[in-house]
Amino acid sequence: VRPGTVALSARGLTKDFRGFRAVKGVDLDVVDGQVHALVGPNGAGKTTLFNLLTGFIRPTSGTITVHGKDLTGKEPEEIAREGVARSFQITSLFDNLTPREHLELALQGRDGGGLRFWRSANLLRGYRGRADELIEQVGLADLAARPAGELAYGQKRALEMALVLALDPTVMLLDEPTAGMGREDVERTIALVRRIAQGRTVVFVDHNMHVVGSLADHVTVMMSGEVLASGTYEQVRADRRVITAYLGE
Ligand code: ADP
Repeated sequence: VRPGTVALSARGLTKDFRGFRAVKGVDLDVVDGQVHALVGPNGAGKTTLFNLLTGFIRPTSGTITVHGKDLTGKEPEEIAREGVARSFQITSLFDNLTPREHLELALQGRDGGGLRFWRSANLLRGYRGRADELIEQVGLADLAARPAGELAYGQKRALEMALVLALDPTVMLLDEPTAGMGREDVERTIALVRRIAQGRTVVFVDHNMHVVGSLADHVTVMMSGEVLASGTYEQVRADRRVITAYLGE
């Protein structure tokens, strides 16, 4: 992390779906080492922007840079190699694999060890130490050897977070990390994201303003595909246009 430099940047980012412009010339600068929240009403274009930034869809126009390197139009794998990793709102875990096994597979997958895996399952065990560190980091130490199917919802989300961390990203994009969670899990997730954010850049989408206010160094508010406001939580919360957009006046 080099504080003050830009980790992730978009210029004039635009996405059309069959003539419908979902993202309209968005400029975005995510400062290295900061936690950056992306908020806005449903349909604002947040998910589309996430998909653009991670290469899952290609922009109609505009550019994306990661640590100053132009990655516009690159495949998700190439963007991931530059240190950008994302979580999804819903990831499919394997019900009969344990958290430890999920992590071991993710770690060996990251190392491109797909073929080696078939040669020797012993190699997988080489990842056990790192797998257990990650499990501990997300608070699942007691559940490392339980089938994932038995985990509670919040615990599954924590495991998904660990799977993203296994990629050791410098920039982590989290899509609604607290969606569907009760109060306790929300607080646990806030604490977890704080820990994760040490030494890396985090961009997240969340509808829970308590989460946004607790975590975000910077907030970008989107509306109808455009950036409506950008600043600290206090700044955007006091912004007339934001209040109007949220209250629908
Ligand atoms: P948000 O995540 O802020 O709720 P989205 O990025 O999901 O917003 O959607 C922004 C707009 O783009 C919405 O009007 C949505 O219907 C539209 N949209 C998103 N994806 C597609 C798609 N693949 N094809 C057509 N329209 C889409």
